[in-house]
Amino acid sequence: MSKLYLVPTPIGNLEDITLRALRILKEADLILAEDTRVTSKLLNHYEIKKPVHAHHQHNEHKTVTFIAEKIASGQIIALVSDAGTPGISDPGFLLVRECLKLGLDVECLPGPTAFVPALVQSGLPCDSFVFVGFLPQKKGRQTKLKSLAEENRTMVFYESPHRLIKALEEFKEHFGLERKVSVSRELTKMFEETFRGTSDEAITHFSTKTVKGEIVIVVEGKTEE
Ligand code: SAM
Repeated sequence: MSKLYLVPTPIGNLEDITLRALRILKEADLILAEDTRVTSKLLNHYEIKKPVHAHHQHNEHKTVTFIAEKIASGQIIALVSDAGTPGISDPGFLLVRECLKLGLDVECLPGPTAFVPALVQSGLPCDSFVFVGFLPQKKGRQTKLKSLAEENRTMVFYESPHRLIKALEEFKEHFGLERKVSVSRELTKMFEETFRGTSDEAITHFSTKTVKGEIVIVVEGKTEE
């Protein structure tokens, strides 16, 4: 059955790939990868030998039609990103939209993504939440934060380690001193840690060292007064 599969891959620990993800990667006619070197390491680890083509933010606009045509001609295509679920702060959306427009089958396998473990282990309400992903780095950042100040649901942010303190300072400024945050760093990896407290407490905690690795910040929504 020709189809576009979006295949989640581990966010650190290589054991976090599902049996079905491995089977689909083995069955695919072509694997599309954000960075072919990163994906080749994963495929070598699982002894999967398949053609791998680059599909990243710099070429996806040009190649979506070509790929959709391959699926239309009967091929099984698997899209992976460097880590986690394609389409979640990673390329994927454009290709999904193009395939659906052409009436092609699209299936995203369930699997690793960084925001779910960070959210669930934050201790903040996870029955209703907003995935913000990366804030704009410059233009639009303050406007976005201002618009989130009234948000009642738990908010999930992706952030780079060198902007962590800046983001926590901004949360303090826009959301107030009482808001709880949970910062998860290096999920599933050797130096995994989750710090829970206020923005101020998190600033104190992370200011004592050089922050490295990948980070998800979960922020409590505004509570009714
Ligand atoms: N597609 C990925 C997913 O499903 O989570 C996200 C890719 S995005 C380019 C990379 C960001 O995801 C990182 O900057 C970090 O915010 C978050 N992330 C990825 N792996 C992580 C990990 N092991 N621990 C904490 N955050 C992680």
